[in-house]
Amino acid sequence: MKIGILGAGLSGISLAYLLQENEKIDRIDLLEKADNPGGLCRSHPFAGIGCDVGPHIMFSKNAGVLDLMVQLLGDNVHKLHRSNRIFHDGRFIKYPFENELSALSAPERDYCLNSFLNNPYAPYPPQSMLQFFLATFGEGITNLYLRPYNEKIWKFDPAFMDTQMVERIPKPPPEDIIKSAQGVSTEGYVHQLHFFYPKRGGIQSLLDAFHRKLGNKVALHTGAHVQKITRSGSAWQVLDSAGPARTFDRLISSIPIPELIARLDTGVPPEVRKAAENLRFNSIAICLIHVERERMGDNFAIMVADKDILFHRISKLDFLVPEEDRDGTTRIMAEVTYRAGDRISRLSDQEMLHQVVEDLARLGFIEGREVVRAQDMFRQQYAYVIYDLDHRRNMRTLRDYCEGQLGLLLHGRFGEFEYINMDAVIEKSMKRSREILGAVNA
Ligand SMILES: Cc1cc2nc3c(=O)[nH]c(=O)nc-3n(C[C@H](O)[C@H](O)[C@H](O)COP(=O)(O)OP(=O)(O)OC[C@H]3O[C@@H](n4cnc5c(N)ncnc54)[C@H](O)[C@@H]3O)c2cc1C
Repeated sequence: MKIGILGAGLSGISLAYLLQENEKIDRIDLLEKADNPGGLCRSHPFAGIGCDVGPHIMFSKNAGVLDLMVQLLGDNVHKLHRSNRIFHDGRFIKYPFENELSALSAPERDYCLNSFLNNPYAPYPPQSMLQFFLATFGEGITNLYLRPYNEKIWKFDPAFMDTQMVERIPKPPPEDIIKSAQGVSTEGYVHQLHFFYPKRGGIQSLLDAFHRKLGNKVALHTGAHVQKITRSGSAWQVLDSAGPARTFDRLISSIPIPELIARLDTGVPPEVRKAAENLRFNSIAICLIHVERERMGDNFAIMVADKDILFHRISKLDFLVPEEDRDGTTRIMAEVTYRAGDRISRLSDQEMLHQVVEDLARLGFIEGREVVRAQDMFRQQYAYVIYDLDHRRNMRTLRDYCEGQLGLLLHGRFGEFEYINMDAVIEKSMKRSREILGAVNA
Protein backbone atom coordinates (compact mmCIF):
# COMPACT_ATOMS: atom_id res chain seq x y z
CA MET A 1 0.00 0.00 0.00
CA LYS A 2 1.20 3.52 -0.88
CA ILE A 3 0.23 6.36 1.43
CA GLY A 4 0.39 10.06 0.58
CA ILE A 5 0.48 12.69 3.31
CA LEU A 6 -0.01 16.33 2.35
CA GLY A 7 2.02 18.69 4.56
CA ALA A 8 5.09 17.89 6.66
CA GLY A 9 4.39 19.78 9.85
CA LEU A 10 4.19 17.90 13.14
CA SER A 11 0.95 16.15 12.05
CA GLY A 12 2.37 14.77 8.81
CA ILE A 13 5.77 13.82 10.25
CA SER A 14 4.42 12.19 13.43
CA LEU A 15 1.84 10.22 11.45
CA ALA A 16 4.50 8.93 9.02
CA TYR A 17 6.67 8.00 12.03
CA LEU A 18 3.84 5.97 13.57
CA LEU A 19 2.77 4.25 10.34
CA GLN A 20 6.16 3.26 8.96
CA GLU A 21 6.64 0.01 10.91
CA ASN A 22 3.64 -1.75 9.38
CA GLU A 23 4.77 -4.30 6.83
CA LYS A 24 1.71 -3.91 4.63
CA ILE A 25 2.62 -0.29 4.02
CA ASP A 26 5.22 -0.19 1.23
CA ARG A 27 5.82 3.50 0.99
CA ILE A 28 4.82 6.83 2.54
CA ASP A 29 5.32 10.09 0.63
CA LEU A 30 5.21 13.39 2.53
CA LEU A 31 4.58 16.38 0.26
CA GLU A 32 5.67 19.71 1.75
CA LYS A 33 5.55 23.05 -0.06
CA ALA A 34 8.26 24.72 2.04
CA ASP A 35 11.99 24.07 1.68
CA ASN A 36 12.06 22.46 5.13
CA PRO A 37 9.59 20.35 7.09
CA GLY A 38 8.08 21.66 10.32
CA GLY A 39 5.24 24.07 9.52
CA LEU A 40 4.31 25.82 12.77
CA CYS A 41 7.09 23.89 14.55
CA ARG A 42 9.85 25.59 12.59
CA SER A 43 12.21 27.83 14.56
CA HIS A 44 13.77 30.99 13.17
CA PRO A 45 17.40 31.79 14.09
CA PHE A 46 17.78 35.17 15.81
CA ALA A 47 20.59 36.55 17.97
CA GLY A 48 22.01 33.08 18.60
CA ILE A 49 18.82 31.19 19.49
CA GLY A 50 15.95 29.41 17.71
CA CYS A 51 12.69 31.42 17.90
CA ASP A 52 9.40 29.58 17.41
CA VAL A 53 6.11 30.78 15.95
CA GLY A 54 5.19 31.91 19.48
CA PRO A 55 7.18 30.00 22.15
CA HIS A 56 6.12 26.35 21.80
CA ILE A 57 6.15 24.88 25.29
CA MET A 58 5.66 21.14 25.71
CA PHE A 59 2.99 20.03 28.15
CA SER A 60 0.21 17.46 28.13
CA LYS A 61 -2.40 15.76 30.24
CA ASN A 62 -1.54 12.64 28.24
CA ALA A 63 1.53 11.11 29.93
CA GLY A 64 2.27 8.81 26.97
CA VAL A 65 2.41 11.71 24.52
CA LEU A 66 4.53 13.85 26.83
CA ASP A 67 6.93 10.93 27.38
CA LEU A 68 7.30 10.43 23.63
CA MET A 69 8.17 14.11 23.07
CA VAL A 70 10.64 14.20 25.95
CA GLN A 71 12.29 10.90 25.00
CA LEU A 72 12.73 11.93 21.39
CA LEU A 73 14.67 14.98 22.55
CA GLY A 74 17.08 12.84 24.62
CA ASP A 75 19.59 15.14 26.41
CA ASN A 76 18.35 18.23 24.64
CA VAL A 77 15.42 18.98 26.94
CA HIS A 78 14.80 20.63 30.29
CA LYS A 79 11.88 21.18 32.59
CA LEU A 80 10.82 24.71 33.48
CA HIS A 81 8.36 26.32 35.85
CA ARG A 82 5.72 28.66 34.43
CA SER A 83 6.23 32.28 35.34
CA ASN A 84 3.62 34.22 33.37
CA ARG A 85 2.03 37.55 34.19
CA ILE A 86 -0.76 39.74 32.92
CA PHE A 87 0.13 43.42 32.68
CA HIS A 88 -2.95 45.38 33.69
CA ASP A 89 -3.16 49.05 34.62
CA GLY A 90 0.59 49.30 35.23
CA ARG A 91 0.66 46.19 37.48
CA PHE A 92 1.83 42.63 37.05
CA ILE A 93 -0.91 40.11 37.89
CA LYS A 94 -0.11 36.43 38.11
CA TYR A 95 -1.57 34.30 35.30
CA PRO A 96 -4.38 33.11 35.23
CA PHE A 97 -5.95 36.47 36.17
CA GLU A 98 -8.50 35.03 38.62
CA ASN A 99 -5.73 33.50 40.72
CA GLU A 100 -4.27 36.78 41.97
CA LEU A 101 -7.10 39.31 42.31
CA SER A 102 -5.34 40.88 45.30
CA ALA A 103 -2.81 42.43 42.90
CA LEU A 104 -5.57 44.64 41.41
CA SER A 105 -6.51 48.07 42.79
CA ALA A 106 -9.03 47.79 45.66
CA PRO A 107 -12.07 48.91 43.58
CA GLU A 108 -11.23 46.49 40.74
CA ARG A 109 -10.54 43.63 43.17
CA ASP A 110 -13.94 44.18 44.84
CA TYR A 111 -15.68 44.44 41.45
CA CYS A 112 -14.20 41.06 40.40
CA LEU A 113 -14.94 39.35 43.71
CA ASN A 114 -18.49 40.65 44.11
CA SER A 115 -19.53 39.96 40.54
CA PHE A 116 -18.10 36.43 40.83
CA LEU A 117 -19.91 35.67 44.10
CA ASN A 118 -23.18 37.33 43.02
CA ASN A 119 -23.27 36.29 39.41
CA PRO A 120 -26.66 36.66 37.68
CA TYR A 121 -25.34 34.89 34.56
CA ALA A 122 -24.28 31.69 36.34
CA PRO A 123 -27.53 29.71 35.72
CA TYR A 124 -27.60 30.21 31.93
CA PRO A 125 -26.06 27.53 29.71
CA PRO A 126 -23.57 29.55 27.62
CA GLN A 127 -24.19 29.86 23.88
CA SER A 128 -21.06 31.84 23.05
CA MET A 129 -17.53 32.39 24.37
CA LEU A 130 -18.58 35.69 25.94
CA GLN A 131 -21.54 34.07 27.70
CA PHE A 132 -19.22 31.35 28.95
CA PHE A 133 -16.87 33.94 30.49
CA LEU A 134 -19.75 35.84 32.11
CA ALA A 135 -21.40 32.69 33.48
CA THR A 136 -18.13 31.16 34.72
CA PHE A 137 -16.15 34.15 36.00
CA GLY A 138 -18.69 36.96 36.39
CA GLU A 139 -18.71 40.46 34.97
CA GLY A 140 -15.57 41.90 36.64
CA ILE A 141 -13.02 39.29 35.54
CA THR A 142 -14.68 39.20 32.11
CA ASN A 143 -14.70 42.96 31.53
CA LEU A 144 -11.28 43.73 33.00
CA TYR A 145 -9.34 40.95 31.34
CA LEU A 146 -11.04 38.06 29.53
CA ARG A 147 -13.11 40.10 27.10
CA PRO A 148 -10.45 42.66 26.04
CA TYR A 149 -7.69 40.04 25.84
CA ASN A 150 -9.78 37.68 23.75
CA GLU A 151 -10.97 40.49 21.47
CA LYS A 152 -7.36 41.41 20.98
CA ILE A 153 -5.96 37.97 20.19
CA TRP A 154 -8.89 36.85 18.01
CA LYS A 155 -9.67 40.23 16.46
CA PHE A 156 -13.20 38.89 16.73
CA ASP A 157 -15.93 39.61 19.24
CA PRO A 158 -16.29 36.67 21.72
CA ALA A 159 -20.07 37.22 21.47
CA PHE A 160 -19.76 35.72 17.96
CA MET A 161 -17.50 32.85 18.98
CA ASP A 162 -18.50 29.31 19.91
CA THR A 163 -17.83 27.75 23.30
CA GLN A 164 -15.75 24.87 21.85
CA MET A 165 -12.44 26.28 22.98
CA VAL A 166 -13.41 27.35 26.45
CA GLU A 167 -16.01 24.84 27.55
CA ARG A 168 -13.42 22.57 29.17
CA ILE A 169 -12.19 25.35 31.48
CA PRO A 170 -13.42 24.37 34.95
CA LYS A 171 -15.41 26.82 37.04
CA PRO A 172 -13.05 28.06 39.77
CA PRO A 173 -14.24 27.15 43.29
CA PRO A 174 -15.54 30.24 45.20
CA GLU A 175 -13.04 29.60 48.02
CA ASP A 176 -10.12 29.97 45.56
CA ILE A 177 -11.43 33.29 44.27
CA ILE A 178 -12.02 34.56 47.82
CA LYS A 179 -8.49 33.51 48.76
CA SER A 180 -7.07 35.11 45.61
CA ALA A 181 -8.80 38.41 46.51
CA GLN A 182 -7.41 38.16 50.06
CA GLY A 183 -3.85 37.80 48.85
CA VAL A 184 -3.47 34.02 49.03
CA SER A 185 -2.63 33.35 45.40
CA THR A 186 -3.37 29.91 43.99
CA GLU A 187 -2.26 28.15 40.81
CA GLY A 188 -4.59 27.71 37.84
CA TYR A 189 -4.19 25.52 34.72
CA VAL A 190 -1.89 23.24 36.70
CA HIS A 191 -1.24 20.93 33.74
CA GLN A 192 0.93 23.73 32.26
CA LEU A 193 2.54 24.83 35.52
CA HIS A 194 5.64 22.88 34.61
CA PHE A 195 6.59 22.40 31.02
CA PHE A 196 9.40 21.01 28.90
CA TYR A 197 11.38 22.79 26.24
CA PRO A 198 14.41 21.90 24.10
CA LYS A 199 17.61 23.27 25.64
CA ARG A 200 18.87 24.39 22.25
CA GLY A 201 17.49 24.92 18.75
CA GLY A 202 13.91 25.85 19.67
CA ILE A 203 10.93 23.58 19.10
CA GLN A 204 12.25 22.67 15.68
CA SER A 205 14.52 20.25 17.58
CA LEU A 206 11.45 18.16 18.37
CA LEU A 207 10.41 18.12 14.75
CA ASP A 208 13.97 17.27 13.68
CA ALA A 209 14.02 14.42 16.21
CA PHE A 210 10.87 12.92 14.65
CA HIS A 211 12.35 13.50 11.19
CA ARG A 212 15.55 11.63 12.06
CA LYS A 213 13.45 8.60 13.04
CA LEU A 214 11.88 8.27 9.60
CA GLY A 215 13.15 5.14 7.84
CA ASN A 216 13.74 4.23 4.19
CA LYS A 217 10.09 3.65 3.52
CA VAL A 218 9.28 7.32 4.04
CA ALA A 219 10.14 9.87 1.33
CA LEU A 220 9.97 13.53 2.29
CA HIS A 221 9.57 15.84 -0.71
CA THR A 222 10.22 19.48 0.16
CA GLY A 223 9.49 22.28 -2.31
CA ALA A 224 6.51 20.09 -3.33
CA HIS A 225 3.61 22.53 -3.43
CA VAL A 226 0.47 20.46 -3.98
CA GLN A 227 -1.38 21.84 -7.01
CA LYS A 228 -4.11 19.38 -8.01
CA ILE A 229 -5.68 16.30 -6.46
CA THR A 230 -7.79 13.88 -8.49
CA ARG A 231 -9.24 10.45 -7.88
CA SER A 232 -9.82 7.60 -10.28
CA GLY A 233 -11.55 4.60 -8.76
CA SER A 234 -10.00 4.09 -5.35
CA ALA A 235 -6.61 5.60 -6.32
CA TRP A 236 -5.52 9.18 -5.67
CA GLN A 237 -3.36 11.24 -8.01
CA VAL A 238 -1.53 14.25 -6.65
CA LEU A 239 0.30 16.78 -8.79
CA ASP A 240 2.81 18.99 -7.01
CA SER A 241 5.37 21.59 -8.08
CA ALA A 242 8.30 19.18 -7.58
CA GLY A 243 7.64 16.53 -10.19
CA PRO A 244 5.30 14.21 -12.12
CA ALA A 245 1.94 13.19 -10.62
CA ARG A 246 2.16 10.67 -7.77
CA THR A 247 -0.38 7.91 -7.18
CA PHE A 248 -1.54 6.74 -3.75
CA ASP A 249 -3.90 4.12 -2.34
CA ARG A 250 -4.63 6.27 0.70
CA LEU A 251 -4.44 10.04 1.10
CA ILE A 252 -4.25 12.09 4.30
CA SER A 253 -4.25 15.89 4.29
CA SER A 254 -2.71 18.08 6.97
CA ILE A 255 -2.63 21.22 4.80
CA PRO A 256 -5.16 23.96 5.65
CA ILE A 257 -8.64 22.92 4.49
CA PRO A 258 -9.24 26.00 2.32
CA GLU A 259 -6.01 25.14 0.45
CA LEU A 260 -7.08 21.52 0.11
CA ILE A 261 -10.55 22.25 -1.21
CA ALA A 262 -9.15 24.74 -3.74
CA ARG A 263 -6.90 21.95 -5.10
CA LEU A 264 -9.42 19.11 -5.21
CA ASP A 265 -10.48 18.19 -8.73
CA THR A 266 -13.27 15.88 -7.63
CA GLY A 267 -16.33 17.96 -8.56
CA VAL A 268 -16.52 19.69 -5.18
CA PRO A 269 -20.15 20.80 -4.58
CA PRO A 270 -20.68 24.58 -4.17
CA GLU A 271 -21.83 24.26 -0.52
CA VAL A 272 -18.56 22.49 0.34
CA ARG A 273 -16.51 25.23 -1.35
CA LYS A 274 -18.53 27.83 0.53
CA ALA A 275 -17.98 26.07 3.87
CA ALA A 276 -14.21 26.12 3.26
CA GLU A 277 -14.23 29.77 2.21
CA ASN A 278 -16.17 30.69 5.35
CA LEU A 279 -13.70 29.15 7.81
CA ARG A 280 -12.06 31.93 9.78
CA PHE A 281 -8.50 32.13 10.98
CA ASN A 282 -5.90 34.63 12.14
CA SER A 283 -2.38 35.19 10.92
CA ILE A 284 0.47 36.13 13.21
CA ALA A 285 3.52 38.38 13.03
CA ILE A 286 6.40 37.34 15.25
CA CYS A 287 8.52 40.39 16.12
CA LEU A 288 11.94 39.77 17.63
CA ILE A 289 13.80 42.47 19.53
CA HIS A 290 17.24 41.91 21.07
CA VAL A 291 17.87 44.40 23.88
CA GLU A 292 20.81 45.21 26.13
CA ARG A 293 18.59 45.28 29.19
CA GLU A 294 14.90 45.41 30.12
CA ARG A 295 12.59 46.01 33.04
CA MET A 296 10.13 43.16 32.67
CA GLY A 297 10.95 41.43 35.92
CA ASP A 298 11.59 37.75 36.35
CA ASN A 299 8.75 36.73 34.05
CA PHE A 300 8.68 34.55 30.97
CA ALA A 301 5.49 35.58 29.16
CA ILE A 302 3.44 38.73 29.73
CA MET A 303 -0.09 39.12 28.41
CA VAL A 304 -1.24 42.64 27.55
CA ALA A 305 -4.97 43.21 26.93
CA ASP A 306 -4.64 47.01 26.43
CA LYS A 307 -5.99 47.77 22.94
CA ASP A 308 -3.59 50.66 22.40
CA ILE A 309 -0.65 48.28 22.52
CA LEU A 310 0.00 46.35 19.29
CA PHE A 311 1.06 42.98 20.77
CA HIS A 312 -1.06 40.72 22.96
CA ARG A 313 1.86 38.77 24.42
CA ILE A 314 5.57 39.20 24.86
CA SER A 315 8.03 36.53 25.94
CA LYS A 316 11.57 36.71 27.23
CA LEU A 317 13.08 33.92 25.18
CA ASP A 318 16.20 33.75 27.36
CA PHE A 319 14.00 32.17 30.02
CA LEU A 320 13.93 29.04 27.81
CA VAL A 321 17.69 28.86 27.43
CA PRO A 322 19.93 26.97 29.91
CA GLU A 323 21.52 29.26 32.50
CA GLU A 324 25.04 28.65 31.15
CA ASP A 325 24.05 29.92 27.68
CA ARG A 326 22.65 33.25 28.86
CA ASP A 327 24.69 36.38 28.09
CA GLY A 328 22.88 38.98 30.20
CA THR A 329 21.01 40.49 27.25
CA THR A 330 17.37 39.68 26.40
CA ARG A 331 15.63 38.41 23.27
CA ILE A 332 12.03 39.58 23.37
CA MET A 333 9.34 38.02 21.20
CA ALA A 334 6.20 40.11 20.61
CA GLU A 335 3.19 38.40 19.01
CA VAL A 336 0.73 40.35 16.89
CA THR A 337 -2.34 38.74 15.32
CA TYR A 338 -4.18 40.07 12.29
CA ARG A 339 -6.52 39.04 9.51
CA ALA A 340 -6.11 39.69 5.80
CA GLY A 341 -7.47 43.16 5.01
CA ASP A 342 -7.56 44.56 8.55
CA ARG A 343 -5.61 47.60 9.75
CA ILE A 344 -2.71 45.62 11.21
CA SER A 345 -2.33 43.46 8.09
CA ARG A 346 -1.54 46.64 6.16
CA LEU A 347 1.45 47.56 8.36
CA SER A 348 4.81 46.90 6.74
CA ASP A 349 7.43 44.90 8.65
CA GLN A 350 9.30 48.12 9.43
CA GLU A 351 6.17 49.85 10.72
CA MET A 352 5.27 46.88 12.87
CA LEU A 353 8.74 46.61 14.43
CA HIS A 354 8.80 50.36 15.03
CA GLN A 355 5.44 50.19 16.84
CA VAL A 356 6.50 47.18 18.94
CA VAL A 357 9.62 48.98 20.21
CA GLU A 358 7.54 52.12 20.87
CA ASP A 359 5.00 50.07 22.86
CA LEU A 360 7.68 48.25 24.87
CA ALA A 361 9.04 51.65 25.91
CA ARG A 362 5.54 53.05 26.62
CA LEU A 363 4.84 50.18 28.99
CA GLY A 364 8.18 50.78 30.66
CA PHE A 365 9.50 47.32 29.68
CA ILE A 366 12.54 48.88 28.01
CA GLU A 367 14.11 52.31 28.50
CA GLY A 368 13.89 53.24 24.83
CA ARG A 369 15.19 52.58 21.33
CA GLU A 370 18.78 53.05 22.45
CA VAL A 371 18.84 49.63 24.20
CA VAL A 372 17.84 47.75 21.00
CA ARG A 373 20.73 45.74 19.52
CA ALA A 374 18.90 43.98 16.68
CA GLN A 375 15.41 43.30 15.41
CA ASP A 376 13.76 40.92 12.95
CA MET A 377 10.34 39.51 12.19
CA PHE A 378 8.49 36.83 10.26
CA ARG A 379 4.84 36.04 9.57
CA GLN A 380 2.71 32.92 9.53
CA GLN A 381 -0.49 33.02 7.48
CA TYR A 382 -2.39 30.21 9.24
CA ALA A 383 -1.85 30.64 12.98
CA TYR A 384 -5.11 30.58 14.97
CA VAL A 385 -8.39 28.84 14.17
CA ILE A 386 -11.32 31.11 15.04
CA TYR A 387 -14.30 29.23 16.43
CA ASP A 388 -16.92 31.56 15.03
CA LEU A 389 -20.58 30.60 15.47
CA ASP A 390 -20.63 28.81 12.06
CA HIS A 391 -17.48 26.75 12.65
CA ARG A 392 -19.23 23.52 13.71
CA ARG A 393 -21.64 23.61 10.76
CA ASN A 394 -18.90 24.40 8.22
CA MET A 395 -16.68 21.62 9.55
CA ARG A 396 -19.51 19.09 9.49
CA THR A 397 -20.08 19.85 5.79
CA LEU A 398 -16.36 19.58 5.04
CA ARG A 399 -15.83 16.36 6.98
CA ASP A 400 -18.90 14.73 5.45
CA TYR A 401 -17.56 15.48 2.00
CA CYS A 402 -13.82 14.81 2.43
CA GLU A 403 -13.91 11.88 4.82
CA GLY A 404 -17.45 10.55 4.32
CA GLN A 405 -17.77 10.80 0.54
CA LEU A 406 -14.18 10.81 -0.71
CA GLY A 407 -12.40 8.82 2.01
CA LEU A 408 -9.77 11.56 2.23
CA LEU A 409 -8.62 11.85 5.84
CA LEU A 410 -8.27 15.27 7.47
CA HIS A 411 -5.52 15.63 10.03
CA GLY A 412 -3.84 18.40 12.04
CA ARG A 413 -4.41 21.93 13.30
CA PHE A 414 -5.55 23.47 10.02
CA GLY A 415 -6.13 20.12 8.33
CA GLU A 416 -9.06 19.65 10.73
CA PHE A 417 -9.41 23.33 11.56
CA GLU A 418 -9.24 22.80 15.29
CA TYR A 419 -7.37 24.76 17.96
CA ILE A 420 -4.99 21.96 18.86
CA ASN A 421 -1.55 22.02 20.42
CA MET A 422 1.39 19.73 19.69
CA ASP A 423 0.30 17.13 22.23
CA ALA A 424 -3.19 16.87 20.70
CA VAL A 425 -1.62 16.64 17.24
CA ILE A 426 0.49 13.67 18.33
CA GLU A 427 -2.46 12.10 20.15
CA LYS A 428 -4.50 12.42 16.95
CA SER A 429 -1.63 10.94 14.92
CA MET A 430 -1.69 7.94 17.28
CA LYS A 431 -5.45 7.57 16.81
CA ARG A 432 -5.27 8.04 13.03
CA SER A 433 -2.43 5.53 12.71
CA ARG A 434 -4.47 2.93 14.64
CA GLU A 435 -7.47 3.51 12.33
CA ILE A 436 -5.36 3.31 9.17
CA LEU A 437 -3.47 0.22 10.37
CA GLY A 438 -6.76 -1.38 11.42
CA ALA A 439 -8.10 -0.91 7.88
CA VAL A 440 -4.82 -2.05 6.27
CA ASN A 441 -4.69 -5.21 8.38
CA ALA A 442 -8.38 -6.06 7.96
C1 LIG B 1 1.37 31.28 17.98
C2 LIG B 1 1.29 29.81 18.27
C3 LIG B 1 1.76 29.32 19.47
C4 LIG B 1 1.68 27.95 19.76
N1 LIG B 1 2.15 27.50 20.95
C5 LIG B 1 2.10 26.20 21.25
C6 LIG B 1 2.60 25.72 22.50
O1 LIG B 1 3.09 26.49 23.33
N2 LIG B 1 2.51 24.39 22.77
C7 LIG B 1 1.95 23.51 21.89
O2 LIG B 1 1.91 22.31 22.18
N3 LIG B 1 1.48 23.93 20.69
C8 LIG B 1 1.53 25.25 20.34
N4 LIG B 1 1.05 25.69 19.12
C9 LIG B 1 0.38 24.72 18.23
C10 LIG B 1 1.32 23.93 17.29
O3 LIG B 1 2.09 24.80 16.53
C11 LIG B 1 0.47 23.07 16.35
O4 LIG B 1 -0.40 22.25 17.07
C12 LIG B 1 1.28 22.15 15.41
O5 LIG B 1 2.49 22.70 15.03
C13 LIG B 1 0.40 21.88 14.20
O6 LIG B 1 1.05 21.03 13.29
P1 LIG B 1 0.34 20.63 11.91
O7 LIG B 1 1.26 19.72 11.22
O8 LIG B 1 -1.04 20.16 12.18
O9 LIG B 1 0.16 21.99 11.08
P2 LIG B 1 1.23 22.88 10.33
O10 LIG B 1 2.44 23.03 11.16
O11 LIG B 1 0.49 24.10 9.90
O12 LIG B 1 1.65 22.01 9.05
C14 LIG B 1 1.00 22.06 7.81
C15 LIG B 1 2.07 21.92 6.72
O13 LIG B 1 1.42 21.91 5.43
C16 LIG B 1 2.24 22.63 4.52
N5 LIG B 1 1.41 23.04 3.36
C17 LIG B 1 0.43 23.97 3.32
N6 LIG B 1 -0.09 24.05 2.08
C18 LIG B 1 0.55 23.14 1.32
C19 LIG B 1 0.46 22.72 -0.03
N7 LIG B 1 -0.43 23.26 -0.89
N8 LIG B 1 1.29 21.73 -0.49
C20 LIG B 1 2.19 21.15 0.36
N9 LIG B 1 2.32 21.51 1.65
C21 LIG B 1 1.52 22.49 2.13
C22 LIG B 1 2.77 23.79 5.37
O14 LIG B 1 3.92 24.38 4.79
C23 LIG B 1 3.05 23.10 6.70
O15 LIG B 1 4.37 22.62 6.78
C24 LIG B 1 1.11 27.05 18.80
C25 LIG B 1 0.67 27.55 17.57
C26 LIG B 1 0.76 28.92 17.30
C27 LIG B 1 0.27 29.43 15.95
